[in-house]
Amino acid sequence: MLDNFINTEIDKKALARVQRMEAFYSGFDAEQLIKTVINQEFKNEVALFSSFGAHSALLIDMVAEVNPKTPILFLDTEKHFAKTYEYVEQITKKLCLKNVHFLKPDPKLVKNTDPNGELWSIQPNRCCWMRKVEPLQRAIKELGIKALITGRKRYQTSERNDMGYFQVDADGIFRINPLAFWDKDKIAKEFKFRQLPQHPLVAEGYKSIGCEPCTIPVGENGDERDGRWAHTADLYGEQKSECGIHLDEKTTSDWSV
Ligand code: SF4
Repeated sequence: MLDNFINTEIDKKALARVQRMEAFYSGFDAEQLIKTVINQEFKNEVALFSSFGAHSALLIDMVAEVNPKTPILFLDTEKHFAKTYEYVEQITKKLCLKNVHFLKPDPKLVKNTDPNGELWSIQPNRCCWMRKVEPLQRAIKELGIKALITGRKRYQTSERNDMGYFQVDADGIFRINPLAFWDKDKIAKEFKFRQLPQHPLVAEGYKSIGCEPCTIPVGENGDERDGRWAHTADLYGEQKSECGIHLDEKTTSDWSV
């Protein structure tokens, strides 16, 4: 749980707010929750955080229905599949999105720490920090974001299996997880009902889609998260399952050199 990191007076207030919101909104469905956080609870302070991956169009569509001008933050790690960039363009046009931000890594950091573009193969945690965590932290400050809507689901990983609608990170930024309690069938049905286009790599056996060097197809019967960071099992002794954007990254601040 993100709130494991809570330790200051300000953080305690944030945790109290999480508990208050969790209790108050627990009976809301995903659509009601999205509407409320955009129009009331975090009005003008909330963004959708999206990977434009296998399931992303569903939440994007739900948010755009409420307000297509809601900021959508896409981490442009510069390591995505060409088909992901095409999909971003396709979804942006189809859903008439008005406020998609491409968050890029700091060019100086890339030059200093990943000049050959192969950091992912030797220090994937550091690569994720430089290409995802740092750009997200920067955008949150620049845009005055206080809360991020995410598409994470409980069923995806053991780290997520007790996740609620609301969390708060070490910097006091709230996470809102409207699909936390959805399962694969419900997502597939709603995706079909809304007639949303699939990411083109889904048809090629990819179930969870991230950066090209760290994503492999798992086929029809494979577990979706097995296709992410498969190469890290040898490096870290266990397969990396999270990129770090939803965890406490204060311990990794020495990477900003
Ligand atoms: S997913 Fe891979 S390539 Fe992308 S930022 Fe993380 S380590 Fe780097």
